[in-house]
Amino acid sequence: AMAAKNSTNGKAGQAAGTQAPGTVTREFLFDYLIVGAGFSGSVLADRLARQSGKKVLVVDKRSHIAGNAYDHYDNSGVLVHKYGPHIFHTNSREVFEYLSQFTEWRSYEHRVLASVDGQLVPIPINLDTINKLYGMNLTSFQVEDFFRSVAEPQEYIRTSEDVVVSKVGRELYEKFFRNYTRKQWGLDPSELDKSVIARIPTRTNRDDRYFTDTYQAMPLHGFTRMFENMLSHPNIKVMLNTDYREIQKGIPCREIIYSGPVDEFFDNRYGKLPYRSLEFKHETHNQSVFQAAPVVNYPNEQLYTRITEFKYLTGQEHNKTSIVYEFPRAEGDPYYPVPRPENAELYKKYKELADNTPGVHFVGRLATYKYYNMDQVVAQALTVYNSISAKQKSAGMR
Ligand code: FAD
Ligand code: UDP
Repeated sequence: AMAAKNSTNGKAGQAAGTQAPGTVTREFLFDYLIVGAGFSGSVLADRLARQSGKKVLVVDKRSHIAGNAYDHYDNSGVLVHKYGPHIFHTNSREVFEYLSQFTEWRSYEHRVLASVDGQLVPIPINLDTINKLYGMNLTSFQVEDFFRSVAEPQEYIRTSEDVVVSKVGRELYEKFFRNYTRKQWGLDPSELDKSVIARIPTRTNRDDRYFTDTYQAMPLHGFTRMFENMLSHPNIKVMLNTDYREIQKGIPCREIIYSGPVDEFFDNRYGKLPYRSLEFKHETHNQSVFQAAPVVNYPNEQLYTRITEFKYLTGQEHNKTSIVYEFPRAEGDPYYPVPRPENAELYKKYKELADNTPGVHFVGRLATYKYYNMDQVVAQALTVYNSISAKQKSAGMR
């Protein structure tokens, strides 16, 4: 509250270090103002404080750290992810080892079922999906032939529709992907970059894991605990429930790390960048198990896309169980950039502005408008840190 008052009289930053009349030197309380306490902001806070000895102030407008990865114990004592299911997976040894400084892990391989034609079948589509769906008994070789017989090869794969239809044909596309995507994005797959649906592979074996990365694990005591460890350092101060714009003028910092939406930073100068939102409906049930898999996708029925049952993810034992439904929304907190050509064009203009804003580093899913998983955000933040620290070394400053 005090900081907010200072920012309105605008003098706080100039009060310190006054020498002669008319000569005012600014004294910086912090080297870095870090906007956002999610993965991007917290990785940079850690590196700048622990590795470079910088003083940092991390500000988040929410009432908690950890950004969208935030988890907490609900009223019944079940550990839940406030912003939907977060499953950690990566092929990067560097990222995994980096995070391992702050948490122990519990091995966890994620599995998802899709509700299609009245059955629950594995997604990504694999051999068992096809056999169950069509009441067949194909081998891996035969299912390859089956896919070839239904596929509609395309000369050029551009959209998310092309990705699926070219591999498994229109019928499977319609059963598993078309409606889910229309619900999730409010767009037809033909209007979305191929990268969106390309996240989901097609398999001819019986592997029913959602991810195949080398490292697949959940933080043993949850994401929030891991973030607490990252941010626990004498050079790191955390200020919650605060939009950085409330305190920016009152608390002078040398440079800024920004992980909020990039268009918002520039007051939507070129118009708003579309971000897809979700509404989460959390429930606790008085039974120990709710559904047959950690996540069940509903491509064709219901207004929600999927239901997650958290105990599968966390390994917690409890006589109750908590779940979350995800209802896609156009308005609300920004969760997903929307990968399509016109948005990439608009982002390019913001990126140019960002590149020409000295002293401000843009990092993360919202600030670089990239549909990144957690591990990709960590890798990006470590890269940003390395370039900051290389620049400082070459400038001879500490
Ligand atoms: P965020 O976590 O969004 O952090 C940005 C922070 O900045 C926020 O806390 C926000 O409050 C704060 N902020 C913004 N503007 C301001 C301001 N003006 N002043 C102060 N603070 C501000 N990834 C995976 O790897 N595996 C998964 O299973 C997975 N599942 C996901 C499921 C859902 C439903 C969603 C939405 C995402 C999922 N992700 C998953 C992606 C993951 O959430 C992101 O990669 C990661 O959280 C991005 O971190 P970030 O720091 O860039 O952004
Ligand atoms: N998708 C789909 N059907 C499914 C699962 C995914 O059509 O059963 C598409 C949909 O467009 C979705 C995208 O693939 O947005 C990526 O899915 P993922 O599960 O990776 O989404 P996230 O967990 O990031 O929300």
